[in-house]
Amino acid sequence: MLGDIARFSPHDPDALVVASLACPVCLHSGSVRWEASLRGYDPSVRCRCSSCHQRWRVYLAPEQALRLGLMV
Ligand SMILES: [Zn+2]
Repeated sequence: MLGDIARFSPHDPDALVVASLACPVCLHSGSVRWEASLRGYDPSVRCRCSSCHQRWRVYLAPEQALRLGLMV
């Protein structure tokens, strides 16, 4: 599985946060299904692209996990 580091700021609007979870292969963001696991030592989001079926995981800094927690 691919791994990546989230590239959004905690102050970014939702659209930018979602865009940062775009598929690394086909660059779609609208077709990405994601599931956040924000608790624990190493918060991350598991992503799956329904367009090209790529799966990957995005690792989050603690403040990014808080930001994403406001959206789920
Ligand atoms: Zn894709």
